Amino acid sequence: MYLKEHCGVIAVSSASPLPLKLTYEGLKLLQHRGEESAGISYLEAGKVKLNRGLGLVEEAIDKAIILSYTTSSIGHVRYSTSGVSDISEAQPMSDGYVTVAFNGTITNFFKFGNYPTDTSFILDFISKEVKEGKTLIEAIRHFMEVADGAYSLLVMDIKGDIYAVRDPQGFRPLVLGRVNNAIVVASEDSAIRQLGGIKLKDLSPGEVIGIREGNIFLNEIVNSSRKTTCAFEFIYFSRADSSIDGNPVYISRIRLGEILAKKHPAPGEVVVPVPDSSRPIALGFSRASGIPLEEALIRTISSKRSFIMPTQEARIEALKEKFGIVESAVKGKSLVLIDDSIVRGNTMRRLISRLRSAGAKEIHVRVGSPMIKYPCYMGIDFPSASELIARSKNEEKISKEIGSDSLEFLTVDEMISAIGTTSLCDACFTGNYPLKGNYNFSSLDKIFGKV
Ligand code: SF4
Repeated sequence: MYLKEHCGVIAVSSASPLPLKLTYEGLKLLQHRGEESAGISYLEAGKVKLNRGLGLVEEAIDKAIILSYTTSSIGHVRYSTSGVSDISEAQPMSDGYVTVAFNGTITNFFKFGNYPTDTSFILDFISKEVKEGKTLIEAIRHFMEVADGAYSLLVMDIKGDIYAVRDPQGFRPLVLGRVNNAIVVASEDSAIRQLGGIKLKDLSPGEVIGIREGNIFLNEIVNSSRKTTCAFEFIYFSRADSSIDGNPVYISRIRLGEILAKKHPAPGEVVVPVPDSSRPIALGFSRASGIPLEEALIRTISSKRSFIMPTQEARIEALKEKFGIVESAVKGKSLVLIDDSIVRGNTMRRLISRLRSAGAKEIHVRVGSPMIKYPCYMGIDFPSASELIARSKNEEKISKEIGSDSLEFLTVDEMISAIGTTSLCDACFTGNYPLKGNYNFSSLDKIFGKV
């Protein structure tokens, strides 16, 4: 079984050395994008240093290094999908000269040799070309020609030059910003702003930016093609205070809820969000329907996002302690329970049963995304098709299985109009994969462990 990632990345480049604390704090602000491993790579006395570990940023990275000073560093938080959290697969990865960290999935990496992961393919491909005499930018351009799939990529060389790369279709976000005198590249602009900085721009699909000692020395577009940003970045994955390519995630989520209320009304007395990413969707639903919102589910502080836990056992274990229920807000009431998505149905089934035990009279579930019927090969770990509850069941059957009184989802067109851009990937809803190559998807399922 192969590993792959859904991740967050950050790079910091400055003219004079800065403490690594900036990179470390930035990674903590991207923690929601991956909770299984974290790492930082930086230059010290002309050498590449790597500090990586399993767990959350504060567990994985040796806190002593945040007092180290450097002009160039890249960091990564990672979620592996293999069921095995292996330190050897944590990022950044380095050969001592080229260091890479990326967010996404290289869908065709297996065509280039027997690589354990797509990250090791990227490192090996670029590193080999450089050893053969190409410049780093030439190797990156060639990589972008041959690679298929999603990648927001950071490449650092032994001199401390950092290249930030967004794939030609712009599947994953990548943002350029400034924090004081440092240039910072991050998966989300909310992290840059929270570090006290400003966003300079979203990288365009296919854009490569070269940064040296806090200055941009190269900026070009390589192989830009039809933009297909992941719809789930808007629905679930990105922070609500982020903005992707000029579209504020919060506004998109509010609109998902408003359209849900208009097109899929429900006979409830209170609207209850499943925290956290569903909150703006529920607010939109409440505003458009006039049904009051109740924060009846309290997320426990220690709970990790169950969707990004590696195994079914880990997910079920995490769910046990995920929410507290405010009984007075649900007892004897008809609820409109809002979630951003239903993948396997575990969270919803358990939650509905607990809400009924707490005295809820009726539970009408409304979902702020379409039915997920197909796996993702572009960086988000939806499980095998057979594990997706909507793969073989209609709304009525799913409703019965999760124990709700009614259940409705947004349609794909409703979702697109809510997000406010047509430049979206919607493959997990439609099965129309916007990839360059033609693939036998049952073979891909085996390669990516979705069987
Ligand atoms: S298939 Fe779904 S999750 Fe994957 S990139 Fe496309 S929209 Fe995002």
